[in-house]
Amino acid sequence: MPISFNFFVLSIIILLQSALGQAAPAQHSEAVDPEKYRWLYEQLIPAQDRASQPDRAFKSFRVHLLDSLQYFPQPSYLSVTHFNRKTEIAGNITYIGFIPKKYNYDVIFNSANDVTLKVKVFFIDPEGQDNENFKAKFAQAEKIWNTNLLPLDFKYKFQFQVVNNPFVAHYSVLLQDDTRGPYDTQWNRNWSATSVAHELGHMLGLGDEYETISSESDCLPKSLMCESFKGLPTRSHYYFILRRLMK
Ligand SMILES: [Zn+2]
Repeated sequence: MPISFNFFVLSIIILLQSALGQAAPAQHSEAVDPEKYRWLYEQLIPAQDRASQPDRAFKSFRVHLLDSLQYFPQPSYLSVTHFNRKTEIAGNITYIGFIPKKYNYDVIFNSANDVTLKVKVFFIDPEGQDNENFKAKFAQAEKIWNTNLLPLDFKYKFQFQVVNNPFVAHYSVLLQDDTRGPYDTQWNRNWSATSVAHELGHMLGLGDEYETISSESDCLPKSLMCESFKGLPTRSHYYFILRRLMK
């Protein structure tokens, strides 16, 4: 197949991936009153963080309410008995405070009470060892995401895969030597595994907790979505991702 045709097909796929992700209605920040969800905040964020750094703790929580899926059940509702059995999840987060950006992942049922949440990424025109390097970073990102899981009555794990076929990918990403994103189209080929785990967090439907315009870090430093180069997934991250599997 001539290269130009490949490129044409790839452009169409990327346009489709981006359009599909933005099909859900956008939520504006003012449409969600975070105070309405104090009860949820109190259940998801540890008491020690709420007491010692209340503003940062609330910021790390309320960002994740800006989601096209306005469905926030009690954490105790996350149960195998409430699975909606969807095999693909898609919607929008509110990126840098106002831009709707897509999230998209597969839900694979290994058994009735065991699911894998999977994100597949295609790298556009990879150079040298790009694909191999990112396979290794994805393996490290899986470790980051699969440690300290929120305990529930079903098994779940995260899987991140580099795929060679853009038709099966959730995202087609261009690797660059110097870029800060956005996560759904451009990555820096030198990002650490932790930064990759943070970007995969966006693909799983989590927003940035820091102040994106000023880059001020006004969130919980131990959270993976607070800054892009350190921290770990938190209880609330797992809640906000897994609630989308419930009916
Ligand atoms: Zn980010």
